[in-house]
Amino acid sequence: MERNTRQRTAIRQAIADAARPLLPQEILQAAEVEVPGLSLATVYRNLRTLVDDGELLAVTLPGEVARYEIAGAEHHHHFQCLSCQRVFEVHACPGNLASLAPQGFVVERHELTLYGRCTDCSEPARAPGAPKTLRSKSR
Ligand SMILES: [Zn+2]
Ligand SMILES: [Zn+2]
Repeated sequence: MERNTRQRTAIRQAIADAARPLLPQEILQAAEVEVPGLSLATVYRNLRTLVDDGELLAVTLPGEVARYEIAGAEHHHHFQCLSCQRVFEVHACPGNLASLAPQGFVVERHELTLYGRCTDCSEPARAPGAPKTLRSKSR
């Protein structure tokens, strides 16, 4: 396979496998297994192309670097873990939020982000965000 195609495929696959929006750095870590020598600059360049081609969407949460997800998913929302900072998809929506807008305003779209702790970070046995090895060491 041509190198450029291989890069694009590996990047798209990394995001599809994760099933959540990934940071360029996370994409690099997953994709360089398939494409040794892949650089962050190359990941960024491919991400731009994939977004331009409509294959990926940028997910930009307030105050965060853009993450990337596969385009074409149904309307959904996101959950950010305050401990590990990962972003997950939320396949639910409270529905029509237009009534929250001031009288006479027209709502065209909404975004909604939940914040909290993911299952990996909410285990009661260890402090939020602590590395997994801490648990065995601490007795
Ligand atoms: Zn987490
Ligand atoms: Zn919604």
